[in-house]
Amino acid sequence: MRQVSRRSVNPKSAGGNAVSVAKASSAVAPANRQAAPPENTGQPFAKLEVVSLLGDQAYQLIKKDIIQCRLAPGAEISETALTKIYGLGKAPIRAALLRLSQDNLISSVPRRGYFVTPITIRNIQELYELRLDLEPAAAKRATSRCDIRNLMSLCKSLRYSDDGTNKLKFLEAHCEFHVAIARAAGNERITQLIASLLHDMARIIHFGEFAPNRGAEDLDVDHRVQQRQHEAIVESLAAGDPEVVEKVMRDHIEHSLDMVKRAAFASKSLVRI
Ligand SMILES: [Zn+2]
Repeated sequence: MRQVSRRSVNPKSAGGNAVSVAKASSAVAPANRQAAPPENTGQPFAKLEVVSLLGDQAYQLIKKDIIQCRLAPGAEISETALTKIYGLGKAPIRAALLRLSQDNLISSVPRRGYFVTPITIRNIQELYELRLDLEPAAAKRATSRCDIRNLMSLCKSLRYSDDGTNKLKFLEAHCEFHVAIARAAGNERITQLIASLLHDMARIIHFGEFAPNRGAEDLDVDHRVQQRQHEAIVESLAAGDPEVVEKVMRDHIEHSLDMVKRAAFASKSLVRI
């Protein structure tokens, strides 16, 4: 078992995360992240509203950087460092960290501070086991109930790119594609479970799909396989054989798990528990 090193993103400290900080901070210049001060309305809650808006802005920015691993799994983060990186005050940063803790993307350790939640083998396996329990069965039930034209359109939007923004758009489109199939099965609770699961897995899926530690050629092969699998899922749903649909969906999720595992084992950020 090898524990991930707790590296600080405090700009005053030296270490590997200096790169992460630079990348994160360069995503949007701090000057662009400062919301314009509101007009004085005389309302006593005006200041609270500004903090709330900036807190939401901080939450979205930090979350994007965590999902894309610009803030590395296991890295220590301090409020002071984050205020400098994102050009926002301590109150919105603190509000954002609270929400990110609720998303399980940040861990708060008493007397030590905040850490980006590590990616662990157990976490990967538990999330994928749940996907494998829910999604093939939901897809099987969705056979002959799906809007095939809509799925074909969603499938076309699942394009890969090296551009960071498009990677996040890919994650959204990918989630929408899988949730649309689940919804067609007609069980809203299962649909919500799958949507929530894919939301929780965004960082892990991004990690597997765009792992920087794997060669571009290797990733390109996997991306082509994934694209073909998405098309095969739509084709099987259109053909109407529930057993085939279930198998094709299971094969696709198992391939995704294999991608994530290969990326994880090649990464120094993985916690091997
Ligand atoms: Zn997929």
